[in-house]
Amino acid sequence: LDKAVLFPRPDGHDMPVVANLLASRKWIGDCLGVSEDGLITRYQDAVQNPLPWVEVEDGPVQAVVHSDVDINGQLPVPTHNELDSGPYIAAGLMISRNPTNGVQNVSIHRCQISGKDRIGVLLLPRHTWTYSRMAEEAGHALEVAIVIGVDPASLLASQAIVPMDFDEMEIVGALHGAPVEMVKCKTNNVRVPAHAEIVLEGRVLPGVAEPEGPFGEFPQYYGRRANRHVVQVDAITHRKDAIFHTIIGGGMEHLLLGGLPREATILESLQRHDPGVLDVHLSRGGICRYHLVVKIDKKQEGQAKNIMMGAFAAHYDIKQVVVVDRDVNIHDGESVEWAIATRFQADQDLLVVNNTQGSKLDPTTMEDGVGAKMGLDATIPLAADEFTFTVIKVPGA
Ligand code: MN
Repeated sequence: LDKAVLFPRPDGHDMPVVANLLASRKWIGDCLGVSEDGLITRYQDAVQNPLPWVEVEDGPVQAVVHSDVDINGQLPVPTHNELDSGPYIAAGLMISRNPTNGVQNVSIHRCQISGKDRIGVLLLPRHTWTYSRMAEEAGHALEVAIVIGVDPASLLASQAIVPMDFDEMEIVGALHGAPVEMVKCKTNNVRVPAHAEIVLEGRVLPGVAEPEGPFGEFPQYYGRRANRHVVQVDAITHRKDAIFHTIIGGGMEHLLLGGLPREATILESLQRHDPGVLDVHLSRGGICRYHLVVKIDKKQEGQAKNIMMGAFAAHYDIKQVVVVDRDVNIHDGESVEWAIATRFQADQDLLVVNNTQGSKLDPTTMEDGVGAKMGLDATIPLAADEFTFTVIKVPGA
């Protein structure tokens, strides 16, 4: 189970497919040269000290250029789940440019192969979506590139929760300790990593919407079919011996890539308001996105509920927050449940906020992602007498 897999000739295609490259916290740590425990700090440090990229004249990613595009002919794009609408690029970094100032954005969107040179893409209302609206209002297409086969730092950086017009590629440079080398696309102005495996150059068409989905998503359900944005692909470039990377929806690689950067940015956001926040964990059962555990050094009554509200505001995906004291192991689900069992009373310690924005991929939210948030304060009341909450201990154990 915990192995990366390489398909040397998928369906007879001569370009190999690789998956499950980053399926454990330890492997990701190894890639960045830190221990599992040091991952979040390392990532936070990179986000706070971004390193701009440099442009180079050419790179291995443009060794082969297809200007006559036939996506499924030129790339071994897999179909992943039984009810998926067809082949999908699942691990492609979409790089777009703010049409007014040229600042680049990096993010991952699921990409359905809709035709020889056509891709249906789901843009949630964040940065790529905003850039595409800006271009559309000016009557233009949005220039983009879809980059497949990048290093672990690039995959992690693409998931950073940073403001608009913060180029995530600068986080990659900071993680590497050296500026990323970028090369200009052949058919548009987007700059892409020169050492990637594959690039699809294209444009998000203004005023065009076509059916996309269903596709197996991270909550282990299908995202449904609807009219969505369309990318017209103008060229494909790749290395001489390119390898196609894919990510299985809902698998550990998918969940960790989403979870680790979120933990880092949520921790930073919470600590800005309350230095008593010590650590956060997005649990596997909560698909590394919906359920957050926060460890605090409690000094005030009500502090836990303020932190919950900060967490709900830090990312709309967060649906449940459990706040615990410093003696609880937040990476261990049983330890967290023990804190809820022994330090939480629902009539006092439960916070429910209804009609909030949640994940549109949570099947229990209404059509537009509206749902409820729940917070559980599983911290010891400050007024409690010390003996009541003294944890038993066998002498010498
Ligand atoms: Mn962004």
